[in-house]
Amino acid sequence: MPAPEVLFIASLQHSGSTYLDLQLSSHGAWVGVGEISGAVRTWLRTRATVSELGCTCGAAPTDCVFWGAVIERLAADDVRTLAQGYATVQMVFGEVFGPDVSMVDSSKHGTHLELAARGSSSLAVLRLTRDVRSWIASEQSRRKRDATSFAGRVRCTAPYLARLWYRRNRILDREVASTGLPTMRVGYEESVFHHERVLDDVDRFVARHLGRSITTGTPPGAHIVRGNRMRLDPVQRAAITYDDAWLCRGALLHSSALVPPIRSYNRRMVYGA
Ligand SMILES: [Zn+2]
Repeated sequence: MPAPEVLFIASLQHSGSTYLDLQLSSHGAWVGVGEISGAVRTWLRTRATVSELGCTCGAAPTDCVFWGAVIERLAADDVRTLAQGYATVQMVFGEVFGPDVSMVDSSKHGTHLELAARGSSSLAVLRLTRDVRSWIASEQSRRKRDATSFAGRVRCTAPYLARLWYRRNRILDREVASTGLPTMRVGYEESVFHHERVLDDVDRFVARHLGRSITTGTPPGAHIVRGNRMRLDPVQRAAITYDDAWLCRGALLHSSALVPPIRSYNRRMVYGA
């Protein structure tokens, strides 16, 4: 069975990769499988937890047409490492969906990009970035729940998080660039608010590098078992929902509060300006 063609979403955590994965899987012969690395690691750590994850096809992963076959193979082959597990997922993908269907993998990290490239016939990267102000607001909501110490509260401040966002994104840029793979920048906000235009751009990019359109063919759906919880909510999935809380949080997150390098990097990566 030939190795699948892969569209890899590279981004920080909580940057809209599940949303983009679902968008791509609803167009043409592309199947989103979410974070392969996360799903395999969950299986390696504690096999029992896998059945609790829930797949976007509506089945428990153990009953899902794709992840069920993956889990069976992982157990039968006594897979012990992430690299072996990654290779198994890609092999089973080819067996289940055949050569006319390609994979969207939103494993995000540069190290996982190497694993994805190893077992694919060809691979292109969507380098997704979420607006720093939106990312900070979402990160603050998560971190503030556990911020009991002074250091913890410092790690919730906008300047700290802005630098973290910048540093992590720059590291990811270098990791992606070092692979030499064809890469397209996608801004999360642009993909939500200018949905059609971004999909057209992605389509042209994919057709050029993988020789396959994302907009033709019958949508076979998505099998995402790791990723944003909204993946399991049909109402949220049907509508374009965007967490706009940061727009209402006052001057602290206004773009003028950002230092110039972060401001211009944000403009370039998210809005292409
Ligand atoms: Zn499924």
